[in-house]
Amino acid sequence: MCASAASSESDAILQCIQAVRADLALLVGQGSLADYIPELAKVDPSKFGIAVATVDGRVLSAGDADEPFSVQSISKVFALTLALGKVGDALWKRVGREPSGTAFNSIVQLEHERGLPRNPFINAGAIVVTDVLLAGHQPKEAIGEMVRFVRSLADDETIAIDPSVAESEKAHGFRNAALASFMKSWGNLVHPVELTLGVYFHSCALAMSCAQLARAGLFLANGGRSPLTGLNVVSRARARRINALMLTCGHYDGSGDFAFRVGLPGKSGVGGGILAIVPGVAAIAVWSPGLDVHGNSLVGTRALELITQRMGWSIFGP
Ligand code: GLN
Repeated sequence: MCASAASSESDAILQCIQAVRADLALLVGQGSLADYIPELAKVDPSKFGIAVATVDGRVLSAGDADEPFSVQSISKVFALTLALGKVGDALWKRVGREPSGTAFNSIVQLEHERGLPRNPFINAGAIVVTDVLLAGHQPKEAIGEMVRFVRSLADDETIAIDPSVAESEKAHGFRNAALASFMKSWGNLVHPVELTLGVYFHSCALAMSCAQLARAGLFLANGGRSPLTGLNVVSRARARRINALMLTCGHYDGSGDFAFRVGLPGKSGVGGGILAIVPGVAAIAVWSPGLDVHGNSLVGTRALELITQRMGWSIFGP
């Protein structure tokens, strides 16, 4: 693309996200905070940020796009990418690839399916993925590897874990402890439950801004290669498959509705963030802490719906 075409595309994106932010101003604050993690209940519900990182290396943003927030389950995308790099397709012996149709922390299905989680984006699946990341490491090393990976993806050394969020989640993580213990009983967890959970909670407690998240996710929009650093993060085929899982499983039992309304691979977190991928074009991150009944950002989803409509960015057609 010539320089002037690229800059007019950037202008169009910037105008779009500024307009979406203005259009949703009255909705901001709706939804409920993830108060089962007390530290997340302290977040200002009126925060609202949008960032778009394009495959030609530009980052456009609106609102609170530079303020770090708790990425929570969005980290499951980065954990999955790392785990696939370590064990490749062997991962699929321990985790499925089907949408769950149940809540992100549901235990019912896990009992039916004998400790084999439906997919890597529900909590049980991500706990198994974390167990893979622990192999050969002390928990601190595995956490360090995760932080270094995300920093390298975003090309930003300032990204860090919020220890108070990790502590808060550990102190109230009874449901996750149940899921992990149940899987351990089926032999689908190699390491001690407390160690795997410790790494899982710290990964969820990564604090990143919308701009950092959009940059970190850009390799998925660009065939596995980061246009920011030139790093080949994953193969084209793997990038496609991670995107496929984000589309089908990234919003738990709200995944079908997200595909219907937004039409992009996406991954939500109970911190109110969503990372969405426009293959070949851009990565988008939004943040608004109020959640819907499935634990997905209410205003964030609406923002993505408007952005994809206005930019013609759905993977299902313009
Ligand atoms: N850390 C959260 C939990 O384990 C992640 C859930 C989420 O973001 N959906 O409950």
